Amino acid sequence: MLVVPLIERKRDGGKLTPAEWTELITEYSGARVPDYQMAALLMACFLNGIERDELVPLTEAMLNSGSRLVFDGLGMPVVDKHSTGGVGDKVSLVLAPLVAACGVAVPMMSGRGLGHTGGTLDKLEAIPGFRTNIPLGKVTEQVRKLGCCMFGQTAEIAPADRKIYALRDVTGTVESIPLISASIMSKKLAEGLQGLVLDVKRGSGAFLTDLDDSILLAQTMIQLGEDRGCRTVALLTAMDRPLGDACGNALETAEAIASLRGEGPEDLWEVTAAEGVEMLLVAGVVKDPADARARLDEARGSGQALEKFREIIEAQQGDPRVIDEPGIMAQAPITEEYAAKRAGTVSRIEPRTIGKAIVAMGGGRQKVEDPVDPAVGFVFRAKPGDKIAAGQSIAAIHARDEQGLEIARAALDAAITMASGRAKPPLPLVSHRITKEGIQVLE
Ligand code: URA
Repeated sequence: MLVVPLIERKRDGGKLTPAEWTELITEYSGARVPDYQMAALLMACFLNGIERDELVPLTEAMLNSGSRLVFDGLGMPVVDKHSTGGVGDKVSLVLAPLVAACGVAVPMMSGRGLGHTGGTLDKLEAIPGFRTNIPLGKVTEQVRKLGCCMFGQTAEIAPADRKIYALRDVTGTVESIPLISASIMSKKLAEGLQGLVLDVKRGSGAFLTDLDDSILLAQTMIQLGEDRGCRTVALLTAMDRPLGDACGNALETAEAIASLRGEGPEDLWEVTAAEGVEMLLVAGVVKDPADARARLDEARGSGQALEKFREIIEAQQGDPRVIDEPGIMAQAPITEEYAAKRAGTVSRIEPRTIGKAIVAMGGGRQKVEDPVDPAVGFVFRAKPGDKIAAGQSIAAIHARDEQGLEIARAALDAAITMASGRAKPPLPLVSHRITKEGIQVLE
């Protein structure tokens, strides 16, 4: 295939035809197009955009580069959710068993931590023995049996995206709305879904910090999903502060278990329930949002959701005792309370600073092959808007060693802003609901 004319055309603001996109992705997947040509083309796309009539065949070709999950004859709707990533975002751990306990199949394909954001797979792997590297045949088997499997993207799903994503990561071409959309949707559509709920984060700790960009990303993904018959709904949720109290893998998993038990922070449950409502609606198993909310409350209140999580853990070779004894997960040897230096109102807790600190403390990766320390992180004792006395604890630090402790203290110094009077209110927790029909502003 002659790639240079395609690069030149994209460079000059032109378009590739559907057949050209298909051939390009096939040839690149087969290693017959070199990385340097693909990188040049990706940069041209990053700078000049990708039109809708190009994005559909690009996504389709990435999807067709691998296998798909097939759930014929399952007798249950199949839905999933995807989050664009944040700090303290352990929603998937609560949501997947919760929705499965409501009779909806959830093949929850998740990722690892990326940059300052945490990843569901790393949180699950804080559970001793828990396996996330599951072949697709076993994923479908477990979904048929339990209604849920929580697994990582295998080499079988959208392998073209794996290659392209790795290249984008090292060529400054990640933050492109069409490229992100094609990447996410090629993987999600391979799951054979009837419905998909997107949690698009907004605010300073989000991947895309600008509200208009978040809306455009949501709309682009919705169109790709709906075009393929997958009912797709997006909620814009706040990432101008960490979600919940715990940040760090084992601490977040413990908080997710507490939430399934009916305890845990209110903001985590509110975001989880809002996404759960949308999942039950796209699955078509409820009449309206109030009915959906009642089903979720019942699944949590009756203990069925927690029991479902126990079954999933057992099926994926994790130690199910974690449900009753979260302390069996790795614990940091050092804990220290971080006290307010003066009285006032907490006006900001900058999530990006917290996420970067966790990575620097060993709780995330600087390089793909880095091991992750599940034990380190923070548990916040206050949220933006809370009034604090001098000397009162704002957060507990969980560190592996003195160096980690120093990093954590410095991060909290930088991340936390105190106001003397009234602080500017944080972003609404769930601010917009976006569907193919339009945008609803919720608060
Ligand atoms: N997550 C993905 O899977 N792909 C992107 O391009 C960005 C985030």
